[in-house]
Amino acid sequence: MTLVMKFGGTSVGSAQAMRETAVLIQQAQQEWGQVVVVASGMGSKPVKVTDLLLNGAHTAVAGDGDTFKGYAEQMRQIHHEAIDGLLEPEGERQAIMAEIDQFVRQYERLCQAICVLAELTPRALDALGGMGEQMSVRILAAYLRQIGFPAEAVDATELVVTDDNFLSANPFMDLTEAKVTARLQPLLDQGITPIVTGFIGATKAGTTTTLGRGGSDFSAAILGQALKANEVWIWTDVDGVMTTDPRLVPSARNIPTLTFREVSELAFYGAKVLHPKTIRPCVENGIPLRIKNTFNPTHDGTVIVPDNGNGKGGIKAVTAIKNLSLLTVEGKGMLGVPGIAARTFGAVARSQVSVLLISQASSEQSICFATPEATADTVIAALEAEFATEIARRDIDRIWADHDVSIVTVVGAGMRGTPGIAGRLFSALGNNGVNIIAIAQGSSECSISLVVDGEETGTAVAHIHELI
Ligand code: ADP
Ligand code: MG
Repeated sequence: MTLVMKFGGTSVGSAQAMRETAVLIQQAQQEWGQVVVVASGMGSKPVKVTDLLLNGAHTAVAGDGDTFKGYAEQMRQIHHEAIDGLLEPEGERQAIMAEIDQFVRQYERLCQAICVLAELTPRALDALGGMGEQMSVRILAAYLRQIGFPAEAVDATELVVTDDNFLSANPFMDLTEAKVTARLQPLLDQGITPIVTGFIGATKAGTTTTLGRGGSDFSAAILGQALKANEVWIWTDVDGVMTTDPRLVPSARNIPTLTFREVSELAFYGAKVLHPKTIRPCVENGIPLRIKNTFNPTHDGTVIVPDNGNGKGGIKAVTAIKNLSLLTVEGKGMLGVPGIAARTFGAVARSQVSVLLISQASSEQSICFATPEATADTVIAALEAEFATEIARRDIDRIWADHDVSIVTVVGAGMRGTPGIAGRLFSALGNNGVNIIAIAQGSSECSISLVVDGEETGTAVAHIHELI
């Protein structure tokens, strides 16, 4: 039996956390036989190593030659402290420390170059961004060996083959499967547990890529598929998937089971607990997915089950994404003109911007859709170019954006069979003075999304949460 377990930033965030993680790895290995571990960079709150890496690069490109040095020192300290707390001086302590120092020096050299060149490419960001994982797996693997548990740190650049879509690369599964089998199976056969970096991969040519922020969850699912694992477990710092983000609403509760479809919608609409791309490799290969709490391991957490079609119970969870713009294409001449929607989204796609929600007035006189706020100007320019003729003819009157809006999404497969959900949602918001700017229902009918003013996000989420 093979189990892939992913440990998030806080689960490897300190010497103490790594010790607890090591216990969970040992227990799982005894129970399952073969365990593959995926780990994130150290992320003890509030400082996450990945943030230090990326922020340092951003300050460097702006001409600041000092800030990244401070970050490098902070990073060195975080890792040295973990090493001091875990590794015996007579064991691998010095060797691992030397490896960490090399990564930190490499980081400083790269930032120095970025600062001098005043250029920061997605490719360079990916070269930097994955160093946190490369450091954490080395410490964790060395600690496991020290306590007599055979383990080996493996860089996922040796395993996960991706396209060159830097910052959000996609795996080539057949190539990845071949590499994973060739590299990991011999280790597993010898009883050695691989400790693999999350987040990163490499192109066919060997250049480091990353799978997107939070992508270590996806790494675990990719390895799960490649190894035909029996289950994939995501260990994090909360009791599984909750009714809403417990950082925003402390009364959030655990959800024992969710369907793949429900959790996909939640993840897509901002529930950070699971990276949205994690779900597909698992659902397509029938691999059960679990989310559990490293700091409360006896809690069952959440199990993600196949879509069973008999959802009951209405709303299960509420989530939100902030910092969006709602763009509207409006005009009386649009009525009945074929192809306006296709051209609108064609232009958006060519700007490489993703659309999070679409809503059309039934009169066909306007289409509105939400995109990340930072991309709004680019998209408006693309639309004005696309529709230059229609704007000149006054078929399209206006293309405009509402800034600083949020999407609040409620999820639950059972909503379909429960009358009055929409009414209860609207009353919950209306009674508390939250204005709904637009509405859309997910195609799978297990989610409803509402666009609200950014400032009202917290109020909207809290009052909807009271309905759960
Ligand atoms: P990790 O480093 O383990 O991947 P993340 O910070 O990416 O951890 O994800 C866990 C966090 O997700 C939780 O601490 C919580 O604040 C946040 N979160 C947001 N929405 C939810 C939700 N619906 N259920 C559980 N956690 C959520
Ligand atoms: Mg995460």
